[in-house]
Amino acid sequence: MTEQRPILIVEDEPKLAALLASYLHAAHHETRHLSNGLDVVPFVKKEPPALILLDLGLPGRDGLDICRDLRTFTNIPLIMITARAEEIDRLLGLELGADDYICKPFSPREVVARIKAILRRTGAPVPEAGTAIPGLILDTDAFRATLDGHDLSLTPVEFRLLKVLATAPGRVFSRSQLLDHLHDDNRAVTDRTVDAHVKNVRQKLETARPGAENLIHSIYGVGYRMEAPEAP
Ligand code: CA
Repeated sequence: MTEQRPILIVEDEPKLAALLASYLHAAHHETRHLSNGLDVVPFVKKEPPALILLDLGLPGRDGLDICRDLRTFTNIPLIMITARAEEIDRLLGLELGADDYICKPFSPREVVARIKAILRRTGAPVPEAGTAIPGLILDTDAFRATLDGHDLSLTPVEFRLLKVLATAPGRVFSRSQLLDHLHDDNRAVTDRTVDAHVKNVRQKLETARPGAENLIHSIYGVGYRMEAPEAP
């Protein structure tokens, strides 16, 4: 089972921390929360999170100082949160090694979107289960696939099908090649069976992310191929 590390929220305003946590939980992220700046470095050394949301103004120790210290020993993705927009220019100039900056007041939805983008870029959440299709994660032990954090609820056969396609993006698989991967036994299955499974997988992808059914292309007279969309 793939372990997904939590996101560390360092924020001394309890309401804001709770709001961020609730949005992150809704997006299937676990969270940890610290409010004192002095606790951050020891915590990260002991329990490295997937990403750190770091408020700049903290009791105990300043966010800038913490960021510098963190970068001496870890590349964990880090988002700095500041209450002053004009401060961002100065922060950028300091080259602190933060991956992103967010200004208060922020929309929690926006913060979650930025976190997802950074985790995707750095491949942080589950590298060994990640695929070349952005946002798609396959957990082979659990036969579980998620797209943008949404569980696709695939049957074992659908999972195998998606796995074959997703681990070789751009490659065209014939129906009979796909059939070889679908069942452990030699049950009598036909090409039509493959089409039916593909249809179901497409529907489930589409439910998780509108437009995602198009990640699987039909190649007329040949079979199927999966392809990541063009980067925006
Ligand atoms: Ca603060």
